[in-house]
Amino acid sequence: MKGEKKIVIKKAPIKNNCPVCFNKELELTFYQKHTFNAFYHRTTNQVTNEIKCNKCHSTIYPVDWNSNIERVFDYYNKLVQPDRSAVRFTLLFYGVLIVLLILIVGLTYLYLEDMI
Ligand SMILES: [Zn+2]
Repeated sequence: MKGEKKIVIKKAPIKNNCPVCFNKELELTFYQKHTFNAFYHRTTNQVTNEIKCNKCHSTIYPVDWNSNIERVFDYYNKLVQPDRSAVRFTLLFYGVLIVLLILIVGLTYLYLEDMI
């Protein structure tokens, strides 16, 4: 089990014309990248964004943004508050840690017993 996920941290409808179908139904979404494996779940500080048209489902890439879209994007980009980057360990991690500690304590005990 290993991978990454993009978690939506903000969605905003924007009232700009779609460069493809000219409808005013764009949506700006900010994502924060999370990575995880069997032992931990990390919230990274990487934030990405995407503008999509709800009508024609096109993704509007920055090269196609006009100055209005850029202005709206800048506005939301300042408002967006990503989660603090952090690492959370899984139960499996603690399980393995406990097993290792028991092994170390057990081996130390056996070793000391022999010494006496
Ligand atoms: Zn469109």
